[in-house]
Amino acid sequence: MALDTGGDTSLLLGSTDVPPVWEDNAAGGSPFLLTCDHYGRLTPQSLGDLGLPASELTRHIAWDIGIAGVAESLSRQLGAHLIAQRYSRLVIDCNRPPDAPSSIPRISEATVIPGNEGLAREAAALRRRAVFDPYHRRISEVIDRRLRDAVPTVLVSLHSFTAVYAGIARPWHIGTLYHRDTRLPPLLLKLLRDEPDLVVGDNEPYAVSDETDYTIPVHGEARGLMNSGIEIRQDLIADRAGQQQWAERLARIFGEIETMLRARGLL
Ligand SMILES: [Zn+2]
Repeated sequence: MALDTGGDTSLLLGSTDVPPVWEDNAAGGSPFLLTCDHYGRLTPQSLGDLGLPASELTRHIAWDIGIAGVAESLSRQLGAHLIAQRYSRLVIDCNRPPDAPSSIPRISEATVIPGNEGLAREAAALRRRAVFDPYHRRISEVIDRRLRDAVPTVLVSLHSFTAVYAGIARPWHIGTLYHRDTRLPPLLLKLLRDEPDLVVGDNEPYAVSDETDYTIPVHGEARGLMNSGIEIRQDLIADRAGQQQWAERLARIFGEIETMLRARGLL
């Protein structure tokens, strides 16, 4: 699709594109602040389909399949503020430092992304200004306000992972992702491992690092918040029933965690 920005190259999102940030339960009273970096798979009209067939734009390379339904239901059940990002991570990955090579991937898994090849520095900066910056600015604003108002805040970053990556099947149903926080991740791991039917990954299938992640290092660790990422296997949350089941399970577990954190004086 041809570029259609009315000749104004400072615009990525046009009048028919939705804003990147989507929120739910902003007034919720839960200490858990939910983020969802890979919630959506939209592409701005000006970028068309990035040169990809629909079959690629619905795959895990474009977004975290199933996590939107889990995040919305979990947000409602906990009364937790959810901040989500609606554009595809193939436009710009909102959980990568913007200077990382994987921020706007030229190849994802084995798929070449034609719309990202040979991208000019200005075009990359435009995607950052239009999608990445508003999302992270909003998370920062919400954390600022909560800290100012002395509202207890625990950051939980929600993701999903493909069951098979580069031909390798993954055994975990769910994984925790963390780096520097020593308060929340052990509790979350313990309660997940108490569930008899789950294979739980400890920093599997991914671990958090400053080089490969953004949301947890910047909004969780640098702000001194308790935090963890969660990764749920996509085949378990491919339909509404699965999304609802996992949201209910996580709501129960986070309810127990809230009680434990309060008992320890951490909330
Ligand atoms: Zn993700």
